[in-house]
Amino acid sequence: MLHRFAPIFDRHSHVSLYAALEGCPDLSACIDPASALAQLRSLPGDRLSLVRGWHSGRLPLSEADLAELPPVLLVNLSLHGLRLSPRAVRLLRDTDPELVARHADPAWCERNLDRLLVLFGRTAGLTAAKLEAWIQGLEAAGVGAVEDLLLTGEEAWWVVRASRWADRLPWRTVPAIFDTLPTEAQAECAGLKVFTDGALGARTAALDEPFLGGGPGLLLYTDEALHQELATLHARGKPLAIHAIGDRAIGQVLAALEDLDRQGLRFPSLRLEHVQFITETQARRARDLGLVLSMQPNFSSDSVDYADRLGPATLARNNPFRMLIDQVGFRPGRDLIFGSDGMPHGLAYAAQWSLFPPFEGQRLGLEELLAGYGPAPGDLPVRELVVEAATREVRLIGGSRWMS
Ligand SMILES: [Zn+2]
Repeated sequence: MLHRFAPIFDRHSHVSLYAALEGCPDLSACIDPASALAQLRSLPGDRLSLVRGWHSGRLPLSEADLAELPPVLLVNLSLHGLRLSPRAVRLLRDTDPELVARHADPAWCERNLDRLLVLFGRTAGLTAAKLEAWIQGLEAAGVGAVEDLLLTGEEAWWVVRASRWADRLPWRTVPAIFDTLPTEAQAECAGLKVFTDGALGARTAALDEPFLGGGPGLLLYTDEALHQELATLHARGKPLAIHAIGDRAIGQVLAALEDLDRQGLRFPSLRLEHVQFITETQARRARDLGLVLSMQPNFSSDSVDYADRLGPATLARNNPFRMLIDQVGFRPGRDLIFGSDGMPHGLAYAAQWSLFPPFEGQRLGLEELLAGYGPAPGDLPVRELVVEAATREVRLIGGSRWMS
C-alpha cells in the first residue's frame, strides 16, 4: 500500500550535537581492538579529538592503551559514557576540572548528561558544511523541519541561524547554556529544557519499580529542589520542556507543576518529553494541567530491546498511546506530539514501530502518526511511504535511509 505524505516535523532531536558528530571518527563498525587503536593513534597530537561509537564491551581499552594515544575523548555508543586519554586530561584539566575528576563515575555522568552532551557537541564542532550534510540526510528520510532540544552554545547558534533551515529549526537549551547566549539568541530561543531522570539504556530512568537486577533508577532532583528549580525557571518567561521517562519522575514533575499551578505560576507552554511509562492517572493529571506530551513512537522498540532490564508488565506499559488517545483524550498534533530523538530520524522507522508494535497499546495508525509529527512548514515536495502489511515492512520511496 502506497501512502503520500508531506515531510514531517520532528519535534525532538539534538541537531547541534548530532550534526557536529557528522564526520567524526566512528568506531561503531570496528570489531577489532587493534584496528581501533591504530585509528586512534593516527589522530592529531595538538588538539582534542572526539571519537564516537565506542563500545566498551567490544573494544576494551586498558590504561596502557590510552596512555599512548593523542588527546582523545572517546564517547560510547549511547552517548552516556566517556573515556579520556591522559593527554586529553592534560588539555581539559584547567578548563573543566570536575569533568576530569569524575567522568568515570556513571552516576555523575547521568546527573551531568546535559553538560556532557554540550561538551561532545563543542569538541566535535559544528560547521555550516556539517549542518548542511546532516540536513540533507533528514530530507532523504522524509523530514522537513526539526526541533533541537539542546543547543550546544553560541557557536552552534551562529551556524544554525545562517543555514537554509534557520526557520525550520526551532531550538531549546538548558538554563546553564541559555545564560551564556547573546540577548538576540535568548530572544530566539523557543524554550528551556530540564532533565528530571536518566535513561533506560543506562538503567537510570526513574520507574516506580526497580530495574531487574535491583537498580532503582535516578531522580535528578529532590521534590523540594525540583519545585524550586521550576519556580526559578518560570520567572524567565520561556516555554519549558521537561525530560521525564519513568512514572516516578513523571509523578514528581506533576506534583511540582500542580503546586505551582495552585500558586498561579503558569508557563507560556509546557511539554513533558518521553513520558514512556506514564500511567492513566498521571495522564489525566497532565491533561488537567494542559500539558503537551512529546513522545517518540521509535521507543516502542524499547519493549523488545530492554527485556533484559524491565519486567514483562513494565515492557507492556511502555508508550501507552492507545490509553492516552482512547481513554484520556489526548489528540495527536494538539497535545500529543511526536519526535525521533534521532534514534533514528525519519518516518519509516517510526511508522514500522507504530503500525507493527510489540504491544497493542502502542499501536498508532499512520494518520495518527503523521498528525502527531505534523507537516513541516513550507511547500515541500510530497513523499511516498510503502507499507506491506503481509511482511510488516515499511519503506520510504527515494531515499529510505534511516538516519541515526
Ligand atoms: Zn533527547
